[in-house]
Amino acid sequence: MQSYDPDQAMTEVRREFGEHGGVTPSIARSATFTVIEPQTMPEIFRGLRGPDKGGCFLYSRHFNPTVDVLARYLAAMEGTEFALCTASGMSAIACTLLQLCRGGDHIVASDTVYGGTHALLKDLFAEMNIRTTFVDPSRIEEFEAAIVPETRVIYTETIGNPTLKAADIPALSRLAHEREIVLVVDNTFTPMMISPARLGADIVVYSMTKFINGASDLIAGAVCAERDFIYRLMDLHTGRVMLLGPTMDPRVAFDILQRLPHLGLRMREHSARAQAIAERLQALNAPVTYPGLTAYAQHTLVEHMVNMGYGYGGMLTLDCRTRERAEQLMAILQNEERFGLIAVSLGYFDTLMSCSGSSTSSEIPPEEQAGMGLSPGLLRIAIGYTGGLEARIGQIERAVRAVGLV
Ligand SMILES: *Cc1c(COP(=O)(O)O)cnc(C)c1O
Repeated sequence: MQSYDPDQAMTEVRREFGEHGGVTPSIARSATFTVIEPQTMPEIFRGLRGPDKGGCFLYSRHFNPTVDVLARYLAAMEGTEFALCTASGMSAIACTLLQLCRGGDHIVASDTVYGGTHALLKDLFAEMNIRTTFVDPSRIEEFEAAIVPETRVIYTETIGNPTLKAADIPALSRLAHEREIVLVVDNTFTPMMISPARLGADIVVYSMTKFINGASDLIAGAVCAERDFIYRLMDLHTGRVMLLGPTMDPRVAFDILQRLPHLGLRMREHSARAQAIAERLQALNAPVTYPGLTAYAQHTLVEHMVNMGYGYGGMLTLDCRTRERAEQLMAILQNEERFGLIAVSLGYFDTLMSCSGSSTSSEIPPEEQAGMGLSPGLLRIAIGYTGGLEARIGQIERAVRAVGLV
């Protein structure tokens, strides 16, 4: 376990108060910003005056004061020099990869990634002549074997969606750096619980739509990296975020700023409940996968990577083998037991359940799903923290018995 505490690290950056001494930051809802001296404007355009160099703002697609506060807190949490907020997780991923790769380049990626990311790499990037080789994230030798002279990026999720296979971030970092390749890690499933940049990742991307915001009421993303890379994304001539334009609205930044202080508490509670539910399901001999179980294939690796005190996350899976059985189980869990909601996404206070193969991973063809170990009956459950824990355990126990899973 790592002794790094991201929650503590966030309290050590400069705290932002609102105008008039507000305990919350103010929302800077301005598209454009005025300067006192006309000479300041050309200096901003030449990159000599930015939010971190004298606090000059220009235009909110570039940098915005409220969005910047959130970025500073995220960088502190992640242990990176800088961060940038985007309009969605997909835009954070796409802009990062497009900044690093051009036509002719190659990416080695985990085969166990979010469906949208899989489509981006396999279908959209292929049209732009950026090729991707997909490999099993639990096998470092597959990443190594897939590297070619054109490889620019190794891309993985810390704990992959939806099979929950873990990537060995320290080992991937050593491999990437030996070959002068950039390691990009999507840490959406495990904020605070695992800090990939501290384990050697160069760039950490997030869908903040999930755990970080935690309220399932907005779409947002982030890129955490060195200052130079963030400035490249914001470059006036070639910046992928600056020119493709998926910047974050300051009202969204404010909402997330109000929820970031309890991300640590929420992660601990998601983890504690998922652990208890997984243990009960395991005791019943249900086909459960959860990184916090010693029976989980990569438990020792994940135990090494986690920050102490945050547990093993809020995600677990139940392999019902067939889609019919998974749908039957979800229907009982939602409509009879009121255990959770049939919905995609994760990180909400209520439990969300979906059958991945026919929903969030449906972009991946069935043969490839089988290859990555994704069964058509895999039920992904994002454990929430409402209700009494014992009552919740009783609900899921009755439901797995009702469908004959145990
Ligand atoms: C949801 C998700 C994304 C995409 O994020 P959006 O905010 O929906 O654009 C990317 N990666 C993972 C792991 C996700 O769960």
